[in-house]
Amino acid sequence: MAANRTFSIIKPDATRRNLTGAVTKMLEDAGLRVVASKRIQMTRKQAEGFYAVHKERPFFDDLVAFMISGPVVVQVLEGEDAVKRNRDIMGATNPENAAEGTIRKAHAESIEANSVHGSDSDENAATEIAFFFKPEEIVG
Ligand code: UDP
Repeated sequence: MAANRTFSIIKPDATRRNLTGAVTKMLEDAGLRVVASKRIQMTRKQAEGFYAVHKERPFFDDLVAFMISGPVVVQVLEGEDAVKRNRDIMGATNPENAAEGTIRKAHAESIEANSVHGSDSDENAATEIAFFFKPEEIVG
């Protein structure tokens, strides 16, 4: 399969603990290349829009509050089978279920403060990339 792209967020629990580099190294070691990256403070409106798919879920309000509790690093990652490759290195949503060697096993604090976001399909990757990046900000 040709190289393609996915979207990643290093979440506030990880930036707070100064783990941006450690998480990025795990992504790079998994064969993903960072082709765009910026550290931002998400607004409530952005966080609500980004997670709109979860708005009926019981954890939605807490999740939005968490995602705006500190800076995040939004990234575009490129590599062969990028969506799956990133999901594999992230590990399960709940760190208690995450496999050894994954980012969430190594770093996540809880099911909510789980250090990273990664797109779950090529279609969502394209939508999420466009949510945060202009085409000219992505340099492959
Ligand atoms: N989340 C949560 N409680 C839950 C499930 C999810 O706080 O019971 C948060 C968690 O930060 C997760 C995000 O909501 O990463 C999105 O959930 P999803 O099921 O899409 O998990 P992911 O794709 O991030 O593994």
